[in-house]
Amino acid sequence: MRRARIVATLGPALDDREKLRAAIEAGVDVVRLNLSHGAQHEHARRLRQVREIAHELGRNVGCLADLQGPKMRLGVVPEAGVDVPTGSEVCLLPGRESLDRYEIDGLSALPVPYEKLADDLRVGALVLIDDGLIRLVVSRIDDGLVRARVVVGGCATSRKGLNLPGVAISAPSLTDKDEADLAAAVDLAADWIALSFVRSPGDVEGARKRITSLGGEAPVVSKLERPEAIEDLEAVIDASDAVMVARGDLGVEIGPERVPAIQKAIIAQANAAGKPVITATEMLESMSSSPRPTRAEASDVANAVFDGTDALMLSGETATGDYPVEAIRTMARIIEVAESSPEHVDRLPDWRTVPDVGRVVADAAGQVAQDIGAVALAVYSISGASIQRVSKRRPRVPLLGLTPKERTARRTTLMWGTEAVLVPMKGQEHTLIETAEQVLVDGAWAQRGQRIVIVSGLPGAEGATNRIIVHRIGDPVGQ
Ligand code: ATP
Ligand code: MG
Ligand code: MG
Repeated sequence: MRRARIVATLGPALDDREKLRAAIEAGVDVVRLNLSHGAQHEHARRLRQVREIAHELGRNVGCLADLQGPKMRLGVVPEAGVDVPTGSEVCLLPGRESLDRYEIDGLSALPVPYEKLADDLRVGALVLIDDGLIRLVVSRIDDGLVRARVVVGGCATSRKGLNLPGVAISAPSLTDKDEADLAAAVDLAADWIALSFVRSPGDVEGARKRITSLGGEAPVVSKLERPEAIEDLEAVIDASDAVMVARGDLGVEIGPERVPAIQKAIIAQANAAGKPVITATEMLESMSSSPRPTRAEASDVANAVFDGTDALMLSGETATGDYPVEAIRTMARIIEVAESSPEHVDRLPDWRTVPDVGRVVADAAGQVAQDIGAVALAVYSISGASIQRVSKRRPRVPLLGLTPKERTARRTTLMWGTEAVLVPMKGQEHTLIETAEQVLVDGAWAQRGQRIVIVSGLPGAEGATNRIIVHRIGDPVGQ
């Protein structure tokens, strides 16, 4: 039984239906649509296919729509990319989506849609491409054209990110493209919406208002990748519904050497606040072109599990890599083995919020289930909040979320160790026990004579989880 969840980014590598099915069977809990890449209709097609397959397999698969945010990117270049050799000079052309020729005066040339690039840059400034893999230093700016010396070269492909460390770029937190993508994500009924480059609680609140005004209700995942957000971590986490350790841009912004400690701090604080946390970027990067992971990658995946992350994400590995299904299988296996190893300690969250009834009930339910040797913990929830609280308690026994809402069932796919099952809304206590018993027996979670723990509120009431019921399968439940 694997408890930490897997988020897989969709892209051309998983467009083949059989491959996608194999990917979902291999353990994808949530698919991520990276709205920075590809057209809206492609994302819609991919999600439709995922939902069909999930339905066929009887699985809950969630969808995370990831907005680009105010990120500078290269424009479109030829499929094979543009070579940017170390030691050479390149030309950056601001305000251009693409070029007729990717060469000027014998130098490689790259389009950059951002119009004010030449105004924002100074000679000597650093320009990083593709999460910092390619490094340039600006050598000349004239006629709105930027020339730069290549310190570390590589091959630049379409729409790779561009970072100018230390340069404040003049763009709002939700760009025009984000507004359009947000409307599309709401139309697609994405289960979560991820916001890139969140700086403050205000950014999150602004996005939430837009979602509501579009008639959506998707919770917001803040991608933590800006130094401002790290400095105001508690407040940003409080404002968000979930967070992502977005190690790609974070590493570019603050230096890769600071990422490991910040990852631990973010995970600990998200757990303390009771919010799901995703660890992302380059987790199995070498598997983009190799069927096996490096030892360092296997350690990275396992360590994120030991840190207490709810979910781990694959990016290019599954979007454009050569071994997308293998990457998912490998990640699932590393997680399972890590979770069953003696190094894996059950970490109770160091709760930061004031104890409310729901939280105390969640804590107690985990303890009761453990102490009486229950085989499963079933949590009734309409909104999913109670399921999330019990998930954060990291119960050792299997956790079943019972909900009448399909949306809630899909949202639990980002919560550690949770299996959701749709049940009809029940009005009376004895039917509540009977339903839980039936679901657990049907799903082979429990059998006659074994004990289960049920967490619920007053039947039918939302937001009032206040009871823990201990039940032995097969025992009479009364009226
Ligand atoms: P972010 O900063 O949001 O992570 P990214 O550019 O790093 O953006 P990832 O989602 O991390 O993108 O994916 C890594 C790479 O996979 C991308 O740079 C892109 O080349 C490719 N990719 C991702 N999604 C798609 C897609 N839908 N279509 C084509 N290529 C994609
Ligand atoms: Mg990335
Ligand atoms: Mg990013």
